Amino acid sequence: MNVNENKQIGIIAKVSGPLIVARNMKDVQMYDVVRVSEKRLIGEVIELRGDMASIQVYEETAGIGPGEPVYFTNEPLSVELAPGLIEGIFDGIQRPLKVIYDKFGDRIPLGTDVPKLDHERIWDFKKSVEVGDEVNEGDILGVVQETPVVEHRVMVPPTLSGTITEIYNGEARIVDVIAKIRTANGQEVEITMLQRWPVRRPRPYKKKLAPHEPMVTGQRVIDTLFPIAIGGIAAIPGPFGSGKTVVQHQLAKWADADIIVYVGCGERGNEMTDVLNEFPELKDPKTGETLMKRTVLIANTSNMPVAAREASIYTGIAIAEYYRDMGYRVAIMADSTSRWAEALREMSSRLEEMPGEEGYPAYLASRLAEFYERAGLVETLGKEGRIGAVSAIGAVSPPGGDTSEPVSQATLRIVKVFWGLSASLAYRRHFPAIDWLRSYSLYEDDLIEFFNKNIKPTWSSQVQETKDILQDESKLEEIVRLVGVDSLEFQDRLTMETARSVREDFLHQIAFDEIDTYTSLNKQFGILKSILTWYHLGQDALRENASFNRIINMKVRERIGRMKYIKEADFDQECEAIMKEINLEYQDLMKGEDLYA
Ligand code: ADP
Ligand code: MG
Repeated sequence: MNVNENKQIGIIAKVSGPLIVARNMKDVQMYDVVRVSEKRLIGEVIELRGDMASIQVYEETAGIGPGEPVYFTNEPLSVELAPGLIEGIFDGIQRPLKVIYDKFGDRIPLGTDVPKLDHERIWDFKKSVEVGDEVNEGDILGVVQETPVVEHRVMVPPTLSGTITEIYNGEARIVDVIAKIRTANGQEVEITMLQRWPVRRPRPYKKKLAPHEPMVTGQRVIDTLFPIAIGGIAAIPGPFGSGKTVVQHQLAKWADADIIVYVGCGERGNEMTDVLNEFPELKDPKTGETLMKRTVLIANTSNMPVAAREASIYTGIAIAEYYRDMGYRVAIMADSTSRWAEALREMSSRLEEMPGEEGYPAYLASRLAEFYERAGLVETLGKEGRIGAVSAIGAVSPPGGDTSEPVSQATLRIVKVFWGLSASLAYRRHFPAIDWLRSYSLYEDDLIEFFNKNIKPTWSSQVQETKDILQDESKLEEIVRLVGVDSLEFQDRLTMETARSVREDFLHQIAFDEIDTYTSLNKQFGILKSILTWYHLGQDALRENASFNRIINMKVRERIGRMKYIKEADFDQECEAIMKEINLEYQDLMKGEDLYA
């Protein structure tokens, strides 16, 4: 066969690492998947110029050369969406790593055609519509118990509507027809549980809603000082070793989300191994099952082909959107978006595009925005009026920790929550090393009402006071540096002591301690209240000329310092006892005079 005459075959003109340029490509579309050479490497068209196409290849291109064929699939790079996603471990283009590993061992053979999801597995489909029912896009046709904790809602695919002419009930594979729908023009469409969706296109929803509820994480510095909303977007920038991955893991374990999509993107393989080893062991406090029962893992670690890393965050967010559409609250973590941006930079430089700042392409910011903007709280398609959410948290690892670089800057313009990790806090072993002076949450105002109403009416005033104390500390530290601590009024020294207590007894939180790893909002409030009560009574006592040294050496302070290790079940009682003791010690301090009569 003369390949030049076949419309369905392109010809490689040039190979540059993961980028291949081919001619005779008039009949392909942007973002179409193609198969490169007889090895049938998986590639995606990322640029079209006349009959020339640039192809990003997701596998090793060593040994491939000009003149070899490029086969068209005429399909965009897509994810498979169906039962079987949860507990899955995929690479950046949704190849099932566990399945491939079991089949082929360590090295993924080139051009493998293992289906993304298990097409043979049998699921128990329970219909929720009947023949004759009118259905629209997003309506639920039936459900499958995907894992003990996730009910998979099989939906009418976007853009489709009509009358149910057949509906199946019982055991089925995801490729079996479970329903038939007659559309307005009389055509009968067969529906399986399996939907395909182009990863780079956001899935539709009815409307976006303003976030109003916190995504509780159990991490005190986050929930109390810099909360993220359900459907919110956050970034965690920080230098190497500052704790980005630990924060991401903590959120994956504890964040109040129904589904977790964890994208390990270009980081070291062993970090992903940690996830793979840990998640199946970890008990989910809400369900008693392991965490994997509500988690999808996507791994494109630093030792895997760079191009698939570029695709991985889109694969991840498309899966997240799919569960959102069922009416779930999904959280997606990407660790790290800097490694993703480096992949983008590498491809851009191979495309010989005009480099922007630090060699990143000019479209870096818009690509990042395209990812984060797919997060949000939405009213989904479908008549049930479901509310779903995707919350997105991206780690950023600026070289040397300098956030003036392009990826950090572009990210900060998009995200609403900034948890800035500090090298010096990490060095001092203050974890999570979230810098309370630099970090912020733009959701604070939207969430005040929730906290004040659902936890305690004084939540927001207590938070504001805590922030003020931490701000004051940094100003006072400056003075102490210049003229020494003795120059300070006792009132100011008390503020500094309180700030220290806030840092050590409240903000500092050990991820690896069985109890400290998670703190409920009620407990967060109680610890802070104890610290602040001690502070307020101390201010009063100082005004009555009480001894500063006796105040700061009070026995109860040790008890306050251990409050974070109190079990949730015992907390309210213990907290009450501690508040009593604070009052008693102050009464004692004032030599039996009842200050508060
Ligand atoms: P990064 O991803 O920013 O390079 P890591 O998340 O791997 O950094 O954190 C580096 C180390 O810091 C961890 O291995 C751990 O020892 C310590 N660490 C970070 N966060 C915490 C935490 N919340 N509690 C205890 N140790 C922590
Ligand atoms: Mg890391």
